[in-house]
Order: sequence, then structure tokens, then C-alpha cells
Amino acid sequence: EELPADPVQENYRRQVRNACFSYVTPKKTSNPKILHVSDEIMKELGFSKEDIKSQKFLKLMTGNEILENSRPYSMHYGGHQFGNWAGQLGDGRAINLAEIEYNSKRWAIQLKGAGETPYSRNADGLAVLRSSIREYLCSEAMFHLGVPTTRALSLATTGDQVLRDIMYNGNAAYEKGAIVSRVAPSFIRFGNFEILAAHKDESTLKALTNYTIKHFFPEIEAGTKDAYVSFLKEVSNRSLKMVIDWQRVGFVHGVMNTDNMSILGLTIDYGPYGWLEGYDHGWTPNTTDRQFKRYRYGTQPEIVLWNLFQLANAIYPLIEEIEPIEEILHEYQNTYKKVYYDMMSSKIGFYNPQAGDELLIKDLEEILQLTETDMTIFFRRLANYTKGGATNYMKVIKEAFYNIVEVEGPILERWDDWFSRYDQRLSLESLDDSDRKNKMNTINPKYVLRNYMAQLAIDDADKGNYDLIEELYQMLKSPYSEQPEYEKWFAKRPDWARNKVGCSM
Ligand code: AMP
Ligand code: MG
Ligand code: MG
Repeated sequence: EELPADPVQENYRRQVRNACFSYVTPKKTSNPKILHVSDEIMKELGFSKEDIKSQKFLKLMTGNEILENSRPYSMHYGGHQFGNWAGQLGDGRAINLAEIEYNSKRWAIQLKGAGETPYSRNADGLAVLRSSIREYLCSEAMFHLGVPTTRALSLATTGDQVLRDIMYNGNAAYEKGAIVSRVAPSFIRFGNFEILAAHKDESTLKALTNYTIKHFFPEIEAGTKDAYVSFLKEVSNRSLKMVIDWQRVGFVHGVMNTDNMSILGLTIDYGPYGWLEGYDHGWTPNTTDRQFKRYRYGTQPEIVLWNLFQLANAIYPLIEEIEPIEEILHEYQNTYKKVYYDMMSSKIGFYNPQAGDELLIKDLEEILQLTETDMTIFFRRLANYTKGGATNYMKVIKEAFYNIVEVEGPILERWDDWFSRYDQRLSLESLDDSDRKNKMNTINPKYVLRNYMAQLAIDDADKGNYDLIEELYQMLKSPYSEQPEYEKWFAKRPDWARNKVGCSM
């Protein structure tokens, strides 16, 4: 909080001890250009249209100039990666530029891809346009879907070339360098606590936890052991809310390592993420995780619990009692199922809970996975079902199937049976068809950032055309609204995009 008079800003790679962060200097870029600015987050931060067109904004958001009275820094954290303790990781390519307060809200602005830091290990600290477009568009899309997330302020190219192994063709090649400036109240992660616990550095651990509570959990009364228990409890609640939202919209994070778990329960670190097209609990967008599929759609809520367990271990020295910790983790386990089924109930228009709902939902989940069925289209179309319509339900959902021929036969009988039960169950709901539809449409999005959409925007951007970035950005601002001008994006993934996933590096 207090700036030392003469900080040592050294970007060389090293193991850091007894510290939460290191001062660094962003790398200068050769020919920076802003490609897009989020007008929403621009307003949140108090920038004007003129501000964002200025040379100063360009220089700040690409690491070429530092704000007066600020000292950029990168954070020290560790993490469990794919279930194993990985030691020190840290912000290898992220630099906190500054923290600002506006409209009584506190924001940290971070550059991603602005050069090496003490935590870069064997990588270059840079980001490419491809992954930056993916992070930029997706984080704003998630916000408008109502999912807690870090935000994005700007997307820029640096004019520099970055060497990458493009995973889908196996060759190393130069790509356009890019920088996203992202924004959140704080970027502190579970891993920030874990690294200090791993070093048995209790005093820094305590300082970090007190700092986090003071600034980001002001409702918790600081200074006692109870405060640390309340803190864990709140992190657990927020993380649960986040992951249930992921399940609701069909978002698969892909790298839920503890270094990618925000202490504020925000979706953070958009790497190889993906969106379910065919509803499939076993799907992961992460090509490096195809064998064990640790981070598949269906396991995300359990992985959050596993990650909370690691956080609990890390802050145990501050609590020194096992029972309250166990209670919180048990509570997560017990409530997550209820919260999950409540969420699924609302997706299918059940607002007066009934005894058999869970079974009906489980059966639906099973049938949805028998043939490739588009999640977004299915739930959005389901809202058009009308009570008493069990004999022609197929008209309502047909569009959601990738191969309608596969639905003939035994699968069709399953659907017939499910819709006749669904219809009976709907008679216990008080809303009429049109009110139910409106309500369902507030939580079942019509537009999500399907992987191929981001890919089209990337392909165009590679050729210097950024129009699609703007089009998707605008469309994804209102994911629950009918937007006739964007109707073409309410469609199944085209065949050419099958099995193509995004790349994170
Ligand atoms: P991730 O899998 O993206 O969460 O990254 C894991 C760790 O690798 C974090 O410490 C990142 O900062 C670091 N990292 C990822 N990409 C780069 C890069 N291009 N240069 C330096 N560090 C990186
Ligand atoms: Mg990360
Ligand atoms: Mg990453």
C-alpha cells in the first residue's frame, strides 16, 4: 500500500521469498495499436471517449508509459496444476499497472502480455493476438451473461512478433503480439496464499489475508480467527456461485488449477476455455487434458471443492482448528447439489419445487447426451414449449440436434417419455406459457461465444480486419435478448468447426 521511495524494479527470473509481489517494468513495444476498447468497462473506470483515443491511453495500455504515482508489479503465487503442487508460478506475463478508485469502486488494471517478469520461468511473458481476442471477447461476454468474471478494458497489438508452437499444426511460427488490459477489483488467487504456506512464511500469509479481508471482504470483522473462517466461507460461497453459473451457460474453463482460482470468485484466466455445443458432461476444451479430462464440464463443481480444500490447507495456520474448516467444505458438498438442481430446474421452467424434479433433470441430462444435442439451442428453444404440447414437442427442439437421423428409434422413445412427464410436471407450475418463456429466457442465453465465432474473428484479425470483434462484442452484450440482426449466430456449430478447439498459449 505504501510505495517505497526507491523500489528495485528487476524483471529477471527468480524465486521470490517473503513477498506478495515484485515491482516490474513493462516492456516497450515497437508499434502499438489499440484494436478495441470495451465501452462498458471504459465508463466503469471513468474514462471518456476522448481519453481512450489519446496517445497516452495507447501508451499506458501497451506498457509504453507508466501512470504518474504508480509502480507496476507482478504477483507472487504458486499453485496446484492438474492435481499436483507446482511450486512458484506467479504473474509470468501479467503486470498490474495501477489501482484506481472510481464511483466508490476499486479496480486493478492489469496488462497481460507486456513482457517478462520475475515469474516468467522459461516463457517469454508475451501474448499473441489469437489468445488475446479469446480472452477479451469471452470475459466481457461472461459478464453480460451474469457470470462473475474479470473484465477487459482494451485489446491492442504490439507490432512485435511472438514465436509460438501452434498446437493445431505442430509447427513453431511467428504470430502477432498483443496485450489485453484486464480489470478486476483484485487478481489475487488461491495460489497467492498457497505459495506463502508452502514457504511456511506465516507472517506474510497473515498480512496478505488481512489485506484481502480488509479491502475485498469489508463485511468481515477483521482481527480474529473467526475472521479467517468467515473469509474461507465467503470464498467458498462465491466460488460455488461462479461454478454453478458456468454450468448454467455451458462454459468449460479448461485449466482450473489453483493459480487460476480468483479469491473473489471471479472467472479468471481465459486460456483453452470452451463452450459446450453438444451437451456432454465429459467434454473438455483442453487438448493437453484429453487423457484424464480432469477439467471436463461435468466435474467443474467438484474441482472447485478440491481447490477450496487446497486454499483451506494454506490458511490453516491462521485458523489452527480443523472443525470449522471441515464444516465449510462439507457445507459446499451438501449445498452444491441443491444449488445445482435449483439452477437446472429454472433452466427448464420449474419454479415450484416438486419431489420428482431431480430425477426428471437427471433423465434429461442422460437423454441429452445420447446423441449430439446443442445445449444453448435446446434450452433456449425449450422455452417455446406449450403446456399440453407433448405430442408435438419435436417441432420445438428439433433444431438442437446435430444429426436428426440418430434421434429416430429408441432415443425417440426416451424423448417421448420425457416430454410426457415434463408436460405433467409443468401443470404444477403457476406461470402461463408466455410468462414461463420470458422467465426461462432470462437465464438460458440465446448467444454465447461459440469457439468457431472467436476463431472467425481471429482469422479476420490476422488479415487486419477487426469488424467481427466489434460485431461479436456488441452481440454478446445482450445474450438473453432476441436480436434479429444477429440471428445467424443463433445456430449450431458449422461442420467445419467440429473438434477444433481454441489455443491458449
Ligand atoms: P496458465 O496455465 O495460463 O494459468 O499459466 C500458468 C503459469 O504460466 C502462470 O504463472 C503464467 O503466468 C505462466 N505463463 C503462461 N504463459 C506465459 C508466457 N507466455 N510467458 C510467461 N509466463 C507464462
Ligand atoms: Mg494462469
Ligand atoms: Mg493463462
